[in-house]
Amino acid sequence: MDVQLTLGELLDRAVRLFPDREIVTKQPDGDRHRYTYGEAGARINQLAHALDELGVESGERVATVALNHYRHFELYFAPPCSGRSIHMCNMRLPDEHFQYIINDAADRVVFVDPAFIEKIEANADAFETVEQYVVLADDVPKTSLSPVVAYEDLIEGQPTEYDWPAIDESDECGTCYTSGTTGKPKGVSYSHRGVYLHSMMSGHTDTNGISQRDTVLPVVPMFHANGWGVPYAATFVGAKQVLPGVHTDPGPVAELIDDEGVTMSAAVPTIWLEMAEYLDDNPDVDISNIDRLTVGGAAPPESLIRRYDEEYDAPIIQGWGMTETSPLGTMSTLRKELEDRDPEERYAYRAKAGIPVPGFRTRIIDDDDEEVPADDETMGELTVRAPWVADTYHDRPSANRESFTEDGWLRTGDIATHDEQGYIDIVDRTKDVIKSGGEWISSVELENELMAHDAVTEATVIAVAHEKWQERPLACVVTGEHEVTADELRDHLGERFPDWWLPDEFEFLDEIPRTSTGKFDKMALRERLDDATVD
Ligand code: ADP
Repeated sequence: MDVQLTLGELLDRAVRLFPDREIVTKQPDGDRHRYTYGEAGARINQLAHALDELGVESGERVATVALNHYRHFELYFAPPCSGRSIHMCNMRLPDEHFQYIINDAADRVVFVDPAFIEKIEANADAFETVEQYVVLADDVPKTSLSPVVAYEDLIEGQPTEYDWPAIDESDECGTCYTSGTTGKPKGVSYSHRGVYLHSMMSGHTDTNGISQRDTVLPVVPMFHANGWGVPYAATFVGAKQVLPGVHTDPGPVAELIDDEGVTMSAAVPTIWLEMAEYLDDNPDVDISNIDRLTVGGAAPPESLIRRYDEEYDAPIIQGWGMTETSPLGTMSTLRKELEDRDPEERYAYRAKAGIPVPGFRTRIIDDDDEEVPADDETMGELTVRAPWVADTYHDRPSANRESFTEDGWLRTGDIATHDEQGYIDIVDRTKDVIKSGGEWISSVELENELMAHDAVTEATVIAVAHEKWQERPLACVVTGEHEVTADELRDHLGERFPDWWLPDEFEFLDEIPRTSTGKFDKMALRERLDDATVD
């Protein structure tokens, strides 16, 4: 049958089959808000009526500047199911980029958490299309924004039924901007069809395996690539959802895992690195409900994967993806053929980005766009294709020319190898790889090996300019309680890597700066160490 694959189908199933399943939010004051898919469905209908009243036309976008909570969840559905689109904004972008994304998306209404009102106030004069602000709260705090209304007042009294319009599955349901680590952010559109298929894939046992038996906790922010699709996939299958709001530090997350019976959670590696430190300092804390953790956005070090297996019985499954890919593309689930291999080898596979998920195609190509051999060694650029991968950027002709191959595959900007088992290994980002004397040094591999050292809790390796070699690696490390010297760390790396790979300098830092999506921020480090030139 020619059934259109739309988000209304996802929501409708959860509301009909799992009306009593809970969505729990930890609110800013620490109280937990609890309601069900049935109640969420009614409020989503009310919100759709409110959007009608505000005059948001079909095809127009509304912006959200919000963390993970039930009102944001309602915004994940009401705009798209009523023919509009949700623009999830990363409030941590610099002002100039933040203004650009709101104007580029031509947002008509901005829904904002009280915590981010100041950010909006500071930028509001530059917004060209915004006509209404809605504060995601019971009441509007003191603000210069105008016109402004509280979310609860906006939806109050609206009918709890809504006659959803027929929607074409190729219509945009949402949009997100890349975080602009190189140049202006680029707008990516998600289609109903893409998100529907991504949600089905995310429930697949060979991927995240999200099922109605699960309780999921996305720590990954809902403004970051659809919260990695977790809220949509969980709704499709009717899983209980736990949304942490501002409470994403290890203590509160661990408490939610224990109290709410969380079985699956998703976040960038830095969150799980911090959680491991916290668990070591607080041996009474229990995260044993966890069945698996999806970790992506950057490579989790192999040592972290081991630690979660051995100490917490909480297996890490690595995923690779990007804003443009909705985001899931590959996952490092272990193939049956590898189950009998010795533990060293199994960990080496699990530390790779993984194999393409069903529905996702990958091709690693050289400078002539020819596929490189699957020898685990030859590097090339990872290019990808799937129904949930963006095929253009909003109004960016030059980015569109550079970012797609002639036959329409997305160039990811990631340098990778692949092997005969189909595992992709991300060697580096094109912009992070260290080019020393015409050869490439993988910053990722050095970082992982540094973090495998007992004394190192965090590490990141960046390129610094060098007169003779063009670039050389510089390691920035955060150490735990043990003392360690640069020479000891160099010797440690020397056991695995050739001499010319070893960083010439080590910087010992109190912490490594994070990007707006919580990854180690190499650009900030580069700027800070800009003048550092290794002799
Ligand atoms: P940004 O990091 O610029 O905020 P994205 O969230 O879209 O934007 O990041 C996508 C990038 O993150 C990928 O291109 C890749 O470089 C990196 N990445 C994601 N997952 C992994 C992984 N499992 N291993 C290594 N790198 C990863």
